[in-house]
Amino acid sequence: MRSPDSPAARRLAGVRAGLAERQLDGLLVSHIPNLRYLTRFSGSSGWLLIDQERAIFFTDGRYETQAQQELPDDAGFELVVLRDQLLAGLAEKTAQEFAGRRLGLEVNHVAVEQWERLRNETSVDWRSVLGLVEELRVQKDAGEIALIRKAAEIAAAALTDTLPLVQPGSREVDIAAELDYRMRRHGAEGSAFETIVASGERSALPHASTSERQIGEGDLLLVDFGARWCGYCSDLTRTFVVGQADTRQREIYDLVLAAHEAACSALRDGALGSEVDGAARRCFAAAGLDERFPHSTGHGLGLEVHEGPRLGRDSEEPLRLGTVVTVEPGLYFPEWGGIRIEDDLVVTAEGATPLIPLEKGRLRALPF
Ligand code: ZN
Ligand code: ZN
Repeated sequence: MRSPDSPAARRLAGVRAGLAERQLDGLLVSHIPNLRYLTRFSGSSGWLLIDQERAIFFTDGRYETQAQQELPDDAGFELVVLRDQLLAGLAEKTAQEFAGRRLGLEVNHVAVEQWERLRNETSVDWRSVLGLVEELRVQKDAGEIALIRKAAEIAAAALTDTLPLVQPGSREVDIAAELDYRMRRHGAEGSAFETIVASGERSALPHASTSERQIGEGDLLLVDFGARWCGYCSDLTRTFVVGQADTRQREIYDLVLAAHEAACSALRDGALGSEVDGAARRCFAAAGLDERFPHSTGHGLGLEVHEGPRLGRDSEEPLRLGTVVTVEPGLYFPEWGGIRIEDDLVVTAEGATPLIPLEKGRLRALPF
């Protein structure tokens, strides 16, 4: 039974409004996170064709039962299970039922081969579409925020379990494996992205890969990790010191923390990504260290670990009520190391609230 108030029906209505604005008859959705957002389908093979009346979900035989279970029955989805080649069947059905109509295609999520087949085998007037569903995803509803919060709680619990095991001589890969394992044990579908554990001078690589390096006395230890829960991601970073922190380490930590707090204070409904980024960047510039902050201050978080809006120098996208973003300023010095602090926050009417409490008030020493 269709219900206009169900989340699925509201999301389809959002797509349909976007189609009308763009003067399109329909949209073929291929990006897997967009499929999950619109249909709840959690598999890895599917297409969704939406027009003003219909929403047809195509998948292959492996996912028949799963699609029947996951697709909500209150939004009027039609399920088409194609036994053989999914793309061939999709092209055939589209040619039969949508010939001559103007349909959008998520061109940044379609392989060239798929694009050519659809163009050659259907008489559809295909048009490029960028970001229609992604724009809807920027503003999270209460159910989505609860899922991201749970993903953050799982990650925080895994960190709490792991930190007592860290000691001089531990390898980065051991710590990463422990975090991944503990997130699973706390119920995560998996890691939201490849866990980063970087120690010593390697912590100066903002996107370090985890190595077999053994951590030593006095090293900085940076962990950047997140869990996935019902498709939704968390993304947290904490930096520690092994043994006693020196003055320089404490000073840089406090500066990153001040920039983090300044950026969090700039979050509010309607603020531009560039304003939030500027708040962090000004703290570093005042200390003459803006050159040591080579990435943006944060990014949207949801079904993808990096999604809109970006909090960067040139980000003109406004934040919305319910948008979930990371705030993650950092300072990096080759041969010395790097410090980053990353939290996940939801934009509220008053400003923004961290999704979970996770200590960050000072540079903590390991083991503790
Ligand atoms: Zn991160
Ligand atoms: Zn991040």
